[in-house]
Amino acid sequence: MPVGKVYLVGAGPGDPKLITVRGLEALQRSEVVVYDRLAGPQLLSRIPDHVERIYVGKRPDRHTMKQEEINHLLVDLALQGKTVCRLKGGDPTVFGRVGEEAGLLKQNGIAYEIVPGITSAIAVPAYAGIPVTHRELASSFSVVTGHESPDKLDRSIHWDKVTNATGTLLFLMGVAKIGYISEQLIKHGRPPETPVALVRWGTRAEQATLVGTLQDIEKKVREANFQPPAVIVVGDVVKQREELQWIESKPLFGRRILVTRARSQASELADRIDELGGEPYEFPVIETRLPDRPETVEAIRTAISEAESYDWVILTSVNGVEFFFRWLELTGTDIRRFHRAEFAAVGPKTAEALRKRGIVPSALPERFRAESLLDSLGERVKAGQKALLPRGDLARELLPRELEALGVESVSLDVYETVPAGRKDEFLLEMLQEGGIHAITFTSSSTVINLLAALREMGVEEPAELLAGTKIACIGPVTAKTAEENGLAVTVRAESYTLDGLVQALIEYC
Ligand code: SAH
Repeated sequence: MPVGKVYLVGAGPGDPKLITVRGLEALQRSEVVVYDRLAGPQLLSRIPDHVERIYVGKRPDRHTMKQEEINHLLVDLALQGKTVCRLKGGDPTVFGRVGEEAGLLKQNGIAYEIVPGITSAIAVPAYAGIPVTHRELASSFSVVTGHESPDKLDRSIHWDKVTNATGTLLFLMGVAKIGYISEQLIKHGRPPETPVALVRWGTRAEQATLVGTLQDIEKKVREANFQPPAVIVVGDVVKQREELQWIESKPLFGRRILVTRARSQASELADRIDELGGEPYEFPVIETRLPDRPETVEAIRTAISEAESYDWVILTSVNGVEFFFRWLELTGTDIRRFHRAEFAAVGPKTAEALRKRGIVPSALPERFRAESLLDSLGERVKAGQKALLPRGDLARELLPRELEALGVESVSLDVYETVPAGRKDEFLLEMLQEGGIHAITFTSSSTVINLLAALREMGVEEPAELLAGTKIACIGPVTAKTAEENGLAVTVRAESYTLDGLVQALIEYC
């Protein structure tokens, strides 16, 4: 069997977009991912489903894998012929023990690549508005470990030199030793009023910053019960924060928001949340696909073959548009065969999807529900006409009924079907249990139903109870009603029934 390969990849400090392009490629190309606590959960949720994940970090209920065991695990996996991604927080060469892992791989003749990452030592202060160097304040910086016991620390760190050699000092793994560190620095000549900042979980929703001086920082850490992991920044650059802090002023800063939409549509909402300083966590609970039931397929083919007979083609969703065109392609049908029909769209996104395909819809309702489409089509809809409604299998019955009341013959087509998609996600479960998800967005009734089903599937007996502490944000009244019927308390409601509306409502709420 050919021997595998190991990528030793830096994941960056937590924000999943801070991994390198090469790192992401390695992650997506691998068959096994070996990771620990500092690799952000969002990044892990981007790993394709078929990839095996092995957690080697600390966990209360299991023994933590020792470094030697991890080294051997990597060798074993590679000897099984696997492509392995060893994902490490920050940069793998900065207190990442990559030397030991690469060393054993080398000894065993296994190919590896080291893919650098953005180290927390620099990125975490940057996210708190602290540049580690500055033309006037610091022309060098040192990254120092604070993890060892006090005497070991003394032996490996030359405090006399470290204290005075460079401008900014950055301590990793140092929160528990903050008193000792400040004491040494003062003892060796740093002024007691030197500014100090601790930045905890930088680049993630939990980011928090505590500022003080060498003199009072220990007391402040104790009083605030400030927990690791944090980067400790010592030096005048800390003062820059007052002026330069940026992400904390964004409207959704500090909020981790669950995005439950269909896989194909999730990223738009996620990107918006991200731009507004929030941390989206994508958990697609719906997948859309072509229906394969012979009756459905037959109905679609027949309806499309009668293209010339329609006066209206009414699209009610972006998916509806996309799948309608897919069927045209599958059946080799030219869109111009619908030359008699006017196209109408419910909602601006649907209209946009049509325009992208070269069709300008002739009606666009003010409000984005099926009901108001009819209002805005008004007199142009006449008795005796025929309308095609390509839509999903869960589309509501209202529109066909109203059309029928107006004497219009309507042909509803299930051009796509939605199937539940939630996979087992331990991170999500853990975050929900610990209050790490601040809000959940629902963009349709099926997202509500499927999320609850996915949680039950993961062993949660009362999913509504688990979600009781989390804000529930719904895109419209129908979705909200479904949420309430399923025992969820809806706290955020979009006024305009669009993604924009939902995002706006979230901002106002937060
Ligand atoms: N290789 C990593 C460092 C590993 S040592 C890197 O380059 O970033 C682990 C320490 O890194 C933690 O104790 C903490 O001091 C720091 N750290 C890593 N990620 C962090 C984050 N998101 N926020 C604050 N500190 C972080």
